[in-house]
Amino acid sequence: MEVEIVKLKTPFTDLDHTYVYVVNSEIMVDGGFCNPQNAEKLEEFDVKRRIITHHHIDHVGLVFYSKKDVEIHKRELEFLEIYSKPEKFIEDYKRLFRIYGANENYADTLRVIMAMKLTKKARLLELIEDNQIIDTPGHTAGHISVLIDGCLFSGDFILSRTTPNVSFYPTYTSGVSDYLRSLEKCLKLDISEIFPAHEKRIKDPEKRITQLIEHYTSRALEVFDAVNSGYRTLEEIASEINWSIGNFRKFDDFNKFMALCETLAFLYYLREIGKVEEEKADGRVIFTVC
Ligand SMILES: [Zn+2]
Ligand SMILES: [Zn+2]
Repeated sequence: MEVEIVKLKTPFTDLDHTYVYVVNSEIMVDGGFCNPQNAEKLEEFDVKRRIITHHHIDHVGLVFYSKKDVEIHKRELEFLEIYSKPEKFIEDYKRLFRIYGANENYADTLRVIMAMKLTKKARLLELIEDNQIIDTPGHTAGHISVLIDGCLFSGDFILSRTTPNVSFYPTYTSGVSDYLRSLEKCLKLDISEIFPAHEKRIKDPEKRITQLIEHYTSRALEVFDAVNSGYRTLEEIASEINWSIGNFRKFDDFNKFMALCETLAFLYYLREIGKVEEEKADGRVIFTVC
């Protein structure tokens, strides 16, 4: 198997590059960060398939800056709309935050997407799922990975250093259980090496996958402990979590928005496995242990 690695810059400080992989000169995995320079570089490759792992901004450059055919999982199409109709997503999040008595203004941080003024250029095709496509939902609802000759091109599903964010959209609330299931599934596959969309290649897949399962399981326990200790509202519970970037109360609005979504993802997971339940109090929904 032959893999060409295209390293493309992003404007983010924490994830400064996205890797696009061209496998056997036939399959391109991912589409780089959204800008014309990146898309131009990728257009030089004459490949049979262009497959996007998920809808995040650092993976979908080809969708907005190239007229080629691009394949993406059908579940991701709904979320790609965030770039053309961000207002709808912001309103949905605000409604949800209101239910849990959290500050709905944190969702306004998504307005930055409107400033990008992105319009779809590519012909979007619903992904053809053959035996090389592995469904790996959790980071997003329709995230996929590509497995060729024992090499897993994992997008943001598995990274070597960062623990990927588990998404929570008002229309996608099963991120944590999906993510854990995706990891368990990959433990059973014959994977010799992982090529993530960011950070280093992973030579010991089993070790990294096991670390990630442990991390998310202990995060779920941490959220449960917060509820069990008497923290009831969404913001109270989020404030009790040991975030890797510091204390929730000191976060900017964007990170508060992300942290609240992640906390909700774990609370919905705990609800799903019968550990916590929702209750109405003072006009908002709070969480208690079962
Ligand atoms: Zn992502
Ligand atoms: Zn990414």
